[in-house]
Amino acid sequence: MKASSKTKKTSKGQINGQRSDLEYDVLIGGGGYVGLSVAVAIADNAKHLKICIVDMAPEKAVMQDERASAIAADATRMLEQLGLWKNISKDAQAINEMIVTDSKLSDVTRPKFLTFGGVRGGDANSDGFENDKKPFAHMVPNRTLVKELRSKAKALGIQQIFEVGVSSFENEDNCVLVTLSDGQILNTKLLVAADGVRSKLRDYAGIKTIHWPYNQWAIVTTVAHERDHEGRAEEHFLPAGPFAILPLKGKRSSLVWTEKEADAKRLLAMDEFAFELELEQRFGHKLGDIEVDGPRKGFPLGLTLAREFIADRFVLVGDAAHGIHPIAGQGLNLGFKDAAALAQTIVEADRLGLDIGSINILERYQQWRRFDTVQMGVVTDILNRLFSNDNPILRIARNFGLGVVDRLPFIKDNLISQAAGKDESAPNLLRGKAI
Ligand SMILES: Cc1cc2nc3c(=O)[nH]c(=O)nc-3n(C[C@H](O)[C@H](O)[C@H](O)COP(=O)(O)OP(=O)(O)OC[C@H]3O[C@@H](n4cnc5c(N)ncnc54)[C@H](O)[C@@H]3O)c2cc1C
Repeated sequence: MKASSKTKKTSKGQINGQRSDLEYDVLIGGGGYVGLSVAVAIADNAKHLKICIVDMAPEKAVMQDERASAIAADATRMLEQLGLWKNISKDAQAINEMIVTDSKLSDVTRPKFLTFGGVRGGDANSDGFENDKKPFAHMVPNRTLVKELRSKAKALGIQQIFEVGVSSFENEDNCVLVTLSDGQILNTKLLVAADGVRSKLRDYAGIKTIHWPYNQWAIVTTVAHERDHEGRAEEHFLPAGPFAILPLKGKRSSLVWTEKEADAKRLLAMDEFAFELELEQRFGHKLGDIEVDGPRKGFPLGLTLAREFIADRFVLVGDAAHGIHPIAGQGLNLGFKDAAALAQTIVEADRLGLDIGSINILERYQQWRRFDTVQMGVVTDILNRLFSNDNPILRIARNFGLGVVDRLPFIKDNLISQAAGKDESAPNLLRGKAI
């Protein structure tokens, strides 16, 4: 494995003449949602393993993330199994219904082309976990997620280092020597790259990606409205891209508003009054008067898929492995699946006394996750190309397609089951079982 050019291996177990005294079983570069989930999922099932997370951002940086994420039912099962859901659910809003429309911005009405009832087997209760009465997804504030993951990580004795990044690493006989940006050197059996879509660790490992930008940005903000959303999520396919209204606790909704890059920049720079006028045009009046109730932030969108997910003593998870379009709200859900699959791979290998960093062991993780990830990348890419345009022929074809799907309950059930993650071959944690 390649190291960054800044390092020089001087003798066995040393980098630039310095030796590491700090030894870990698992070192995670990137303490975002996925890095934290990997750490907690492993430690909760194998308490003797020594785990450290390093994140280059300050500890409080994540508290500025005003976003909320749609978390699918299988991921909530994992959070429940890890003892996190009880607290997270206090801030979570169940998605009880989802409607999809396809129209032009100037259209006076937006006929529903697809509707999904989200509750499986009855009404959602506050936990959503008794008698299989579960919404297929919940909206969870990202801050709540990180707060609970961090406090569980602390309780499990996982070391968390902030404001320090991974600058380079070098494979030794049976370990990786990792140099941090403060000069510290750590020694680990396995290095996990969870450092997001522009992963430096992936580059250092020499893993190439397939990547293309979409020339689209997602504008994210929060809206307060007069009437109750009743747990309904809406996705309006407009010519510039999807405009999603996602219910939060109380009379508030999170928006993921896709626009062409230049238009997004223009909208982000607008004064409040002009921005709200543009917003109203897309949001409509179904929920009464609306008011922007949070900062606006823009995210450039693209597709990034790593060609390999593993190397010797090295593994990619979350956006470092796959950055996809948020059209289906699945990026973080894929990351949770990575966390569950990697934790199971490591914990089971450790129980058998095997080397958790060996490439043969990591191969199981790669096989588990590659197909699902590429499939989701392709599906979101096709959906975005199909819907983010004003081509009249494509419009007729997709409206016909959505209309057919809406009239066939078994297709809808299948789509919901997929969104809810009812997959028998899924890792234990996603099925609500310990490893
Ligand atoms: C607008 C938008 C809406 C979305 N909505 C949804 C949704 O509803 N549902 C869903 O499932 N997904 C959604 N996603 C996707 C989701 O946000 C991402 O998939 C998720 O944030 C990925 O988490 P991560 O932990 O892999 O990476 P990140 O969240 O990017 O975290 C990476 C971490 O690594 C740290 N780091 C970076 N470099 C280094 C380094 N060298 N050393 C150490 N640390 C480093 C960073 O500080 C950061 O904390 C959305 C995405 C966007 C853009």
